Amino acid sequence: MTENRSGAADPLDSLRSTVAFSSLDWAGAGDTAWIYGIICGWDCEIDHRHDDVCGGQEAIEDLARQHDWTPARVTRLRALRTRWLELHANSESREMHDLAAARTAVAKMTTRHRELEAENIALLARLAFSESGDHR
Ligand SMILES: [Zn+2]
Repeated sequence: MTENRSGAADPLDSLRSTVAFSSLDWAGAGDTAWIYGIICGWDCEIDHRHDDVCGGQEAIEDLARQHDWTPARVTRLRALRTRWLELHANSESREMHDLAAARTAVAKMTTRHRELEAENIALLARLAFSESGDHR
């Protein structure tokens, strides 16, 4: 989804899901391959021993040949991808922070609600006592 838990729109997540689920051939043109490389990444990002199935870093090397990307340009694309992941992690941790703050606020309101209920019961008891006192 493109909304976080608090219901606010998450533009990074919207971009990621749009690109990830698009039927466009992102590798076909240099500019779309660049965009895909930042948002989704061409390298295998699983922490494991890369093999023929995951492809490791082969895709970006093929694209570099196909679109005449210099090694410096490939390095820049990988740096942008890393920065994207950091930004997304920050937006998720901010979301978690907001969620924790909301839970604290709810807990405080619940406590205050219980205090007010107790005061209300005490006031009603006093009122009932004074009313019963009027009917002597
Ligand atoms: Zn791999």
